[in-house]
Amino acid sequence: MDVREIEAKSILSKSNLPVCDYSANPYVGCSHACRYCYASFMKRFSGHDEPWGQFVDAKTWKPLASGGKYRGKQVFLGSVCDPYMLEEAVWKRTRALLEQLVGSGVEVSVQTKSDLVLRDLDLLQQLPGVRVGFSMNTLDEGFRADMDKAASIERRLAAMAELHDAGIRTTCFISPIFPGITDVTAIIEAARASCNLVWLENLNLRGGFKADILGYIAERHPDLVPLYDAIYRKGDRSYWQALDGEIRVWAAREGLDYVRNDDTVRRPFDAPPVIVNYFYHEEVRKR
Ligand code: SF4
Repeated sequence: MDVREIEAKSILSKSNLPVCDYSANPYVGCSHACRYCYASFMKRFSGHDEPWGQFVDAKTWKPLASGGKYRGKQVFLGSVCDPYMLEEAVWKRTRALLEQLVGSGVEVSVQTKSDLVLRDLDLLQQLPGVRVGFSMNTLDEGFRADMDKAASIERRLAAMAELHDAGIRTTCFISPIFPGITDVTAIIEAARASCNLVWLENLNLRGGFKADILGYIAERHPDLVPLYDAIYRKGDRSYWQALDGEIRVWAAREGLDYVRNDDTVRRPFDAPPVIVNYFYHEEVRKR
């Protein structure tokens, strides 16, 4: 892919996300090209004609203000791009940002679908309170490959384990949960020894990708069409309510805490992961 270099006014943007004060995206566009990407609306502002997933701009920016301006703030790295997409191996913009954040007093959260993040372990270990999240919504590599061009689930889980073994707090972000396809508890089982938090987010089909995803379901999972129609055409929430109840029962049986919209509690590093339900994320208010 041809990567264009662009100058950004600032690398940190004030954020409305419930989990941070600022977001930082070292790239515009994302070559992981997830079919359900909520960030694909960014194309409108990018000046690109290519489809989402087929362009990447690498940002340059002025060095961050010194003097502790951001001390104590939460910075979320990768809200509208994956900071460790393939191009990062060459362009190293995420690494440059982490270098600037070391010593700034910010608390950094990184979200990715790539094991390239392991390259920056040396910097992550210099960022107090840092957290690295890995997104996944299946253990089936076939479905994964139908949905994105990122690293295999096996590599994401292995990277999560390696970071966790190195003392980095990790999050397993089960998102987006596809009704009838994503096996939430199986993913938690696969990740629970290597993560401190599990976030759950349901599939939201409000973007331009709605027709594509519903077309995929009709073609590959025709038995699920009535369920998707009920949820995404008629607004029926009973699937999510039932899933919420099932996970609550399962978590209680497993001795895991299950909470809603709150990841602020810090447990000891070796404590079992806390499961946080972010269903209806569009309704979650900033804490
Ligand atoms: S990795 Fe994230 S930002 Fe990139 S295409 Fe997938 S969902 Fe969008």
